[in-house]
Amino acid sequence: MAGADSGRDWLIRGGTLIPIDGPVRPGDLLIRQGRIAALLSPGSPAAEVPVLDASGCLVLPGLVQAHVHLCQTLFRGRADDLPLLRWLRERVWPYEAALDETSLRAAARLGAAELLLSGTTTILDMGTVHGQDALADAIAQTGLRATLGKAMMDRGEGVPRRLRETTRESLAESDALCRRWHGAAEGRIRYAYAPRFILSCSDALLRGVAERVADGDDRGPRAHTHAAEQRDEVALVRARMGTDNIHGLRRLGIAGPRTVLAHCVHTDARQRRTLARDGTHVVHCPSSNLKLGSGVAPIAELLALGASVALGADGAPCNNNLDGFLELRLAALLQKARRGAATLPAARALELATLGGARALGLEQEIGTLAVGKLADVIVVEPRVLHATPQADPVEMLVYALRGSDVRDVLVDGRLLVRGRTLTPLTGLDVEALRAEAEQQAQRVRQRAGL
Ligand SMILES: [Zn+2]
Repeated sequence: MAGADSGRDWLIRGGTLIPIDGPVRPGDLLIRQGRIAALLSPGSPAAEVPVLDASGCLVLPGLVQAHVHLCQTLFRGRADDLPLLRWLRERVWPYEAALDETSLRAAARLGAAELLLSGTTTILDMGTVHGQDALADAIAQTGLRATLGKAMMDRGEGVPRRLRETTRESLAESDALCRRWHGAAEGRIRYAYAPRFILSCSDALLRGVAERVADGDDRGPRAHTHAAEQRDEVALVRARMGTDNIHGLRRLGIAGPRTVLAHCVHTDARQRRTLARDGTHVVHCPSSNLKLGSGVAPIAELLALGASVALGADGAPCNNNLDGFLELRLAALLQKARRGAATLPAARALELATLGGARALGLEQEIGTLAVGKLADVIVVEPRVLHATPQADPVEMLVYALRGSDVRDVLVDGRLLVRGRTLTPLTGLDVEALRAEAEQQAQRVRQRAGL
């Protein structure tokens, strides 16, 4: 069975297994041809596969971030201390309008490297309006698992001309991209139609997206947009639609189990009941919501209603990191500040960061837990660090004490992409080269944008 599948068989030996949907226990993880073949008792007889020694380490599914923008990574630190609509109109949209294929590839590589090194193995990405093939290709080449799609914008105040499309162009280009990328890279890449938010999309565009997503099942493309992020935006949506984001989108067909909404910060009890009843996925982006001054999303209330919730770092200009461990910790802490210290306990928060993300992407049969038959998207975390000493409960350490930089090894599809905190040649990524490329490309984009 060597050949095409070589490099995708592993025995991760001697660690503490954290399956997410079952008890934490010491054990070995056997991976064959990129899938989890067995969860074994410690000291099981050696299989004839390469061994990854995980003695003293924590072994768990890779984090799934269900809302990021890798196209924005070169704009880290260049849009600070602004509220959402000014942040978009004065900085982020002019920046996106100045991206070309070379800078998009640099942004994607930088973002993917940061994500992999900090233990994120799957993302839902919103691209920009143009250059999506270059962005998707660059992401695919790193080995990261991604559901992705170009941003769609056919109206809106303050949108640069280069980012403004006609409704027909936007849908046609998205359809062509969906045909090219949905299921590409051995199934690692999937497509999500991504109307940016109500204020930059016509009703016709949103209806067109709803029609394209409605016919599918979990194997089909998703709809991915922003909703109810900030008060100004909510007021403008109400002025245009006569209702709130959640019910406005729903009226146009953007709702249900194939729809993913980032933020949902400003949602009342009625909107939350609608989200839960429809099975629409909510992505909580706590750092972004704090930094843009948006507020704190009512995640405890959504979870109490049985709503589907995932986590995401959003983009580098509004975070300014893509480390899923920061989002995990912050998500848990913020709900405690709102509702008391017992709210969103560690195990539940970790579930949102893994299985919750997998559900949002329709991939819960394939990733998000350590279960036999699932794809081997696995991370090995080193807890023997000063900031987690003395050692305590593994799940609580992961949520409250450990950091993305404590991730030692990362596998996606059974391929070892990070080993000993270093990107392997399978990623095509090198940290020093990436830094140089990103600095150079970021400067060129800023010059073109006049920023
Ligand atoms: Zn976003």
